[in-house]
Amino acid sequence: MLIWEVRGVNFVINMLLLTGFSLLYTWLQHAEFHLPIWRRLREASQIALTIGFLLLYHLASELRIMEAHDRKGLGWSYLAFQIGVLLFAMILKRSSWLFLSLSVVLLFWYWWLPNVSWWGYFYVVSVLLLAEADRFGWRIIDRPLVFYPFCLLFSAPFLWANWISLRGIEVSWWVELAECFVVYYLIWLIYYQLKRRDERQAILLCEASKDNLTKLNNFRIFNDDLQRAFDQYHEKGTQYSLYTFDIDFFKRVNDRYGHLEGNAVLKGVATELNRLLPKISSNAKAYRVGGEEFSFMVFDDQTQHGSPNEVANQVREAIGKLVFKTKQGDQFQITISLGQAQIDAEDQNYLDIYKCADQRLYRSKEAGRNWVTTSGKLLN
Ligand code: GH3
Ligand code: MG
Ligand code: MG
Repeated sequence: MLIWEVRGVNFVINMLLLTGFSLLYTWLQHAEFHLPIWRRLREASQIALTIGFLLLYHLASELRIMEAHDRKGLGWSYLAFQIGVLLFAMILKRSSWLFLSLSVVLLFWYWWLPNVSWWGYFYVVSVLLLAEADRFGWRIIDRPLVFYPFCLLFSAPFLWANWISLRGIEVSWWVELAECFVVYYLIWLIYYQLKRRDERQAILLCEASKDNLTKLNNFRIFNDDLQRAFDQYHEKGTQYSLYTFDIDFFKRVNDRYGHLEGNAVLKGVATELNRLLPKISSNAKAYRVGGEEFSFMVFDDQTQHGSPNEVANQVREAIGKLVFKTKQGDQFQITISLGQAQIDAEDQNYLDIYKCADQRLYRSKEAGRNWVTTSGKLLN
C-alpha cells in the first residue's frame, strides 16, 4: 500500500514543480527587462531553465531507482513530467536555439538509457516530433482534439524506450498513461489560463486607449503619439503634421435637440473622419481630444495626398455636408473650424505643435467659424 501513498505524494509535488516551471518560463517570455543585456539573455535563460528542470526530474528519478534496487522505482512518473517540461517549452516558444539545445539533451538521455540497443531510432523519432512541436506549437495546443493525440504520439518513443530499459513496469499501463494525461491536461490548463489573461489584458488596454462614445483614440493616445512623433523627428527627421478641429456652436445642437442627438453628431463626425483618413494619408490616425474637439495626425508628410490647405478643406467640406436627422424628424447640418500645424525645427517641446494648431483653430473661430487656418493662412 505504501507504494501508492508515496506515488500520490510524489505526483502532487511534481505537479507543483511543473506549474512552477511553466510560470517561470512564461514570466521570462513576457518580462520587461530594462537592461539590454537581460533582454539578450532572455532566450538563454529560458533554455537554461528548461534543461535545469529536465535534469532535476532526472536526478530525482535516478535517486528513486537507486532506492528501489530493481531499476524500477518511480522512474515512470518522473518521465511523464520530463515530457511535460519538453512539450510546454517547445509549444510555447518558437526558437531554433531551444530546439537545438533540447535535441542535444535528448541525445544524451537516449544514449545513457541502459539496455536500449535501438536507441538511435527512438532518438530520431523524438527529434522529428520535437521539430513538429516547435513548428506548429500554438496551432497544436489551441485544438484539444489535435493536442492530446499529439502529446501521446510525442510521449510514445520515450515511454517505449523506458519500458525496454526498465524491463517492465511496476504498476499497470493504465496508471502510467493516466499520469501522462493528467500532465498533458495541466500543460493545457496553464496555457489556456495564460491565454485568457493575455486576451483580457488586450481588451483592457484597448478600452484604456479608446474614447467610449466615438471609439476613436483618446487624449492619452494622442499625447503618446505626439511624443513619439516628436522623438522620431529628432532621430530620423520624419516631418509630421497635426490637424485639430472643433464643432461650431455645438452647445446649440445640445440645447435645441438634446444631449443624445448631440452624441449622435459626435459619432457621425468620428465615422466621417475614419472614412476620410485613408484618403488623406496611408499613415494617419484620428483622435477625440476633448468634448467636441477632434484631431488627426499625419505621421509622415511624404504620405499625405494633397497640400495642407487641400486636406483641411476636404475635411471641413465633408463634415459640413453631413445631414443629421433627429427622431422628431428635424434635419440639421454642422460646421467646423480647423487649425493645422507642421513640426517646426524650433519646437522645444512635443506639445508645441498642438499649441500652434490650437491657436490657428481659434483664429478660424475668430474669423467667423467654418474656416481653416494652415501655416498662418486663413482660408475658406
Ligand atoms: P464654439 O463654436 O465656440 O466652439 O461653440 P460651442 O458651442 O461648440 O462651444 P462651447 O464650448 O460653448 O460648448 C461645447 C459644448 O459641447 C458644451 C458641452 O455640453 C458639449 N459637449 C461636450 N462633450 C459632449 C458630449 O460628449 N456629448 C454631447 N452631447 N455634448 C458634449
Ligand atoms: Mg465648439
Ligand atoms: Mg470646444
